[in-house]
Amino acid sequence: MTAPGSAELVEVRAPDPGPGQVRLDVLAAGVCHSDLAVLDGGAAATWTLPFTLGHETCGRVAELGEGVEGLAVGEQVVVHAPYGCGDCPRCATGRTNYCDRRASLPAAGLGLGLDGGMAEAMVVDATRVVSAEGLDPVAAATLTDAGLTSFHAVQGSREALAEPDALAVVIGVGGLGHLAIGLLRGLGTTVVAVDTREEALVLARECGADVAVLPAGARGVVPARGADVVFDFAGAQSSLDLAVALLRTAGDLVVVGSGGGSLTVSKPGVLPSGAAVRVPFWGSRPELEAVVGVARGGSLTPRTTTYPLADADRAFAQLRAGRLLGRAVLVP
Ligand code: NAD
Ligand code: ZN
Ligand code: ZN
Repeated sequence: MTAPGSAELVEVRAPDPGPGQVRLDVLAAGVCHSDLAVLDGGAAATWTLPFTLGHETCGRVAELGEGVEGLAVGEQVVVHAPYGCGDCPRCATGRTNYCDRRASLPAAGLGLGLDGGMAEAMVVDATRVVSAEGLDPVAAATLTDAGLTSFHAVQGSREALAEPDALAVVIGVGGLGHLAIGLLRGLGTTVVAVDTREEALVLARECGADVAVLPAGARGVVPARGADVVFDFAGAQSSLDLAVALLRTAGDLVVVGSGGGSLTVSKPGVLPSGAAVRVPFWGSRPELEAVVGVARGGSLTPRTTTYPLADADRAFAQLRAGRLLGRAVLVP
């Protein structure tokens, strides 16, 4: 990203790994809806430009910096990219996504203010890489945000999902949402999927959703008591309003999407009694290890469309136009 609204493919020198770092040859880099928000301004307004986009990366270790142990040249890995200060209690346990200094950090992650994976090579701290041997690199890349964020969102609602005959609603079946459906089905939860695009509803059923409907049909397929958990992967005003309307008493509303909608919390108010609202962000390093494990077990199958790195603009345009199913992944 070179300027607000502008991403260009440029030649830069391959970076050298410093002490404790590794250089990766990038194998695959996912395209997230957040990349569009970054390109359009938003959070990027406070970040130093230029930087390389790409916060969803799978690569092969190409060079070890001084003092790096436990990694071998040639190993296939994925990158835990949420940025943290590195020494608060959250960072010390791999929860850089919830760093205590988040509000004052110069970037949100690698690819989000710091150099990321939409490149041929990338340098990362060795503590950020997680082995992904044996996985398809394109699928593996999607695990690092679409998979990890969905996993973390679902994990946070395990108690609500443990209700007898728990029902979850997933609104927004894109890069994140289609993986959330797979994770929920893996837990045995009944899933109602909602999207504004018919083709996303077809994908939702393929991922295991019990029912998949347009927003107008959602109230008709959720029992009157409501859903134990509603995951909103759009975060638009219309999706938030629908999410609230579908929520059961003491249910969880999990807002993952950053579509600009807002919700007024008051008592009494629009939320049912006992409701909990969460706004999860990304996920921890141990959770990335766990989601890689789930994928290795074969129960999580990302739907991907690959583009050459040189065609990144086309991938961004397709995502913006709502023409993608699942995740777009750039391959250098
Ligand atoms: P995507 O474009 O791949 O998927 C979004 C899906 O939502 C699409 O299928 C679209 O048709 C559907 N949709 C849009 N508006 C809708 C509405 N009003 N009702 C129902 N469905 C609707 O995007 P993605 O990459 O999966 O990202 C989803 C959202 O999550 C984005 O806002 C992104 O910025 C955000 N995000 C948040 C985190 C986090 O940590 N909280 C991490 C990654 C992405
Ligand atoms: Zn993202
Ligand atoms: Zn920290």
